[in-house]
Amino acid sequence: MSKKVLVVAEARDKSLRNVSFEALTAAQRIAKGGDIIAVTFGSDAANYVAELGKYGAVKVYTVANKELDTYTTDAYFQALRQVIEDVQPDAILMPHTAIGKDLAPRIAARLGLVSDVIDVQVEGSKVVFTRPIYAGKAFEKKTVTDGTVFATVRPNNIAAEETGGSAEKVDFNAEIKDLRTIVKDIVRKTAGGVDLSEAKVVISGGRGVKSAEGFKPLQELADVLGGAVGASRGACDAEYCDYSLQIGQTGKVVTPDLYIAAGISGAIQHLAGMSSSKVIVAINKDPEAPIFQIADYGIVGDLFEVVPLLTEEFKKVLGETITV
Ligand code: FAD
Repeated sequence: MSKKVLVVAEARDKSLRNVSFEALTAAQRIAKGGDIIAVTFGSDAANYVAELGKYGAVKVYTVANKELDTYTTDAYFQALRQVIEDVQPDAILMPHTAIGKDLAPRIAARLGLVSDVIDVQVEGSKVVFTRPIYAGKAFEKKTVTDGTVFATVRPNNIAAEETGGSAEKVDFNAEIKDLRTIVKDIVRKTAGGVDLSEAKVVISGGRGVKSAEGFKPLQELADVLGGAVGASRGACDAEYCDYSLQIGQTGKVVTPDLYIAAGISGAIQHLAGMSSSKVIVAINKDPEAPIFQIADYGIVGDLFEVVPLLTEEFKKVLGETITV
């Protein structure tokens, strides 16, 4: 039976995040020919309609209230709840991002939630979600048998597929009131660069990097590969880098095509944030370091020799910069 699926699209710095398209692709599987409706928030909402149409949305609700220009739980919850009431979807998908993780529980209080989904399959009339559990050590399959299906989609796991369609714009004016929080300004700790949680290549440093200065060779390698720099908590705790770079159980979860761990031992809490990466390369001078157990390629050596060598070789092979 076809289903009506609502997808919450997320934009950052005036462009849609790739996970919005991945969520639309997951929606295509669930909808089985039914309508896919996307929703975007804030003054720029209308700018995203065409792109969302290309990935399968037939309608895009644009909720352009100015209170939605920056994210607050209160304002987004009020707006999304009204859109849900209007659309009456059979299923709702949302990116499993910082915003999604904050907003989803408010909606889930009424609907229930399957969070952090990495795959969606349809078996007969059942929608089967796969999600990691125990910090990525196991995977569980979940089926929602009753009510509205509601799930958050982990970035970089479901390949976004264009359908080449176009979407109708539906202007929706939400009633937003009694806000407890007003965001006046957002000050980013790290400016520019590739977004860590959506990067195709991540070069991470651990305590073995030894200083803030020690991250420079990693940044150079990341620049050559068009990637982002991440870190272990060990490196963050030692104040070699900002906590916004931390990957792991209490940091960001990344699933790039290539993850290079330099001077990281491979504690279970770190693996929780990167073990789903497609190709893992470990550089560590200790051949017994646990990170080698999950690495596809291991280099036993001093990262300060190995990383610059890799940068030089990649430069030669790939030219100045590549996009993977
Ligand atoms: P270390 O374990 O000290 O490893 C440093 C490695 O560098 C060693 O293997 C060493 O051989 C190698 N090395 C040293 N010099 C060089 C060199 N010149 N060249 C090559 N290799 C070198 N950790 C996270 O990362 N993310 C989390 O989200 C996280 N959450 C946590 C939550 C909880 C509740 C707890 C208790 C812990 C958490 N941790 C987390 C911490 C985690 O347990 C580890 O302490 C941390 O990951 C270790 O960081 P590290 O690998 O950089 O440091």
